[in-house]
Amino acid sequence: DAHVVIIGAGHAGGTAAALLRQYGHTGLITMIGEEPIPPYQRPPLSKAWLKGEADADSLALKPLEFYAENNIDFRPNLKAVSLNRGDKTVTLSDGSSVSYDVLILATGARAIKLPVEGADLDGLLELRTAADAEKLKAALGPGKRLAIVGGGYIGLEAAASARKLGAEAVVLEREPRLLARVATETLSSFFQAYHEKHGVTFELGASVVGFEGQDGRVTGVKLADGRVIACDAALIGVGAAPNEELAKEAGLECARGVTVNLEARTSDPSIFAIGDVAHRPMPIYDRMFRMESVPNALEQAKQAASAITGRPAPAGEVPWQWSDQYDLKLQIAGYAFDVDEVLLRGDPASGKFAIFHLKGDQVQSVEAINSPPEFMMGRQLIGNRKAVSKEKLADPSVSMKEVAA
Ligand code: FAD
Repeated sequence: DAHVVIIGAGHAGGTAAALLRQYGHTGLITMIGEEPIPPYQRPPLSKAWLKGEADADSLALKPLEFYAENNIDFRPNLKAVSLNRGDKTVTLSDGSSVSYDVLILATGARAIKLPVEGADLDGLLELRTAADAEKLKAALGPGKRLAIVGGGYIGLEAAASARKLGAEAVVLEREPRLLARVATETLSSFFQAYHEKHGVTFELGASVVGFEGQDGRVTGVKLADGRVIACDAALIGVGAAPNEELAKEAGLECARGVTVNLEARTSDPSIFAIGDVAHRPMPIYDRMFRMESVPNALEQAKQAASAITGRPAPAGEVPWQWSDQYDLKLQIAGYAFDVDEVLLRGDPASGKFAIFHLKGDQVQSVEAINSPPEFMMGRQLIGNRKAVSKEKLADPSVSMKEVAA
């Protein structure tokens, strides 16, 4: 059987390694990971783990022994630095190289940095890895003030966790509202009000131009209007960029992410790309897109492992993701592409509602707050492209089962 080399030991890479064995691959599997620990879940780093409700061991996808027991050569603390497609080798940061028959790029994404004055001060944090999360946790507690640059999901989850740990939290967002790129205005204002109720403060329309410090440590965030927001630490949560350099330099087709087909195969037939790094087809929406979610990493790991072991391609899935803040569980299915109508079901004041995004009479996406049936049936409706009655959908007294019937 082929020697499969996986670059990146994250959610996608770790899952692909395990699935290859589960699907009966008997050849060598080598998994190269830059981080010191085996693949783990990142979502709890801003949620349960940060709040102290989950221990570090519970984050691991599989215990360390799993890899040796399944004859997976997991090599931590190593970075792939170049890819030579001609002789099918990858050069590693220790100067050695590894040759492959099949390569899986699962290098994920990295936190985007803010190229502003003072960006190298101590106390400026990002949240992508377990090591980042340790630093953030150490900066939280009573009497501490955390500034969060970026009002996206990770920033808001960190704000909720900071409050839980007794720290002050101030969120600085460049746009006039939170979650501006990803959510409706109704959802933005709902989250803002909920966070304010829990003591988080917001500066909206606030453009960060630099950081101030003392003795090398951050003491404040400078805004374009001249104000300085005092803080003991600042978390930069302004989005992530795909780790696609290896692929780009090796001449693989990329488009803000490594371009793949529904088998997760790149423009080179012996190379796959999966997870946050991949720019992939989304047949439901008839377009290509790069997603950053665990369900996407799992789906693409399945696609690649199936193709490599000669299994039929798995059925397409409707993308979904979630966010936990305080006692709110947000579940999102689909993406709001080409939407011409937005419909509210339920009352935001009750803390339980859903926002449906429609194209004609088809559901494109749903954001459900503490409303599992709306999420589940909504996800089904996105998948089967069934026409819905808008009247019924907007009426919470009509069950979702009836709406979807
Ligand atoms: P990653 O998990 O990032 O793994 C990539 C790995 O590759 C990393 O370990 C990296 O060090 C390594 N690597 C990169 N380049 C190289 C190289 N050249 N050589 C060797 N190794 C390399 N998703 C959800 O669905 N729901 C959530 O609630 C949610 N919350 C999140 C909260 C946080 C704080 C973060 C950071 C992410 C969250 N996500 C969430 C997103 C989710 O974690 C990612 O979509 C998922 O981890 C993607 O998996 P991946 O394997 O593609 O990338």
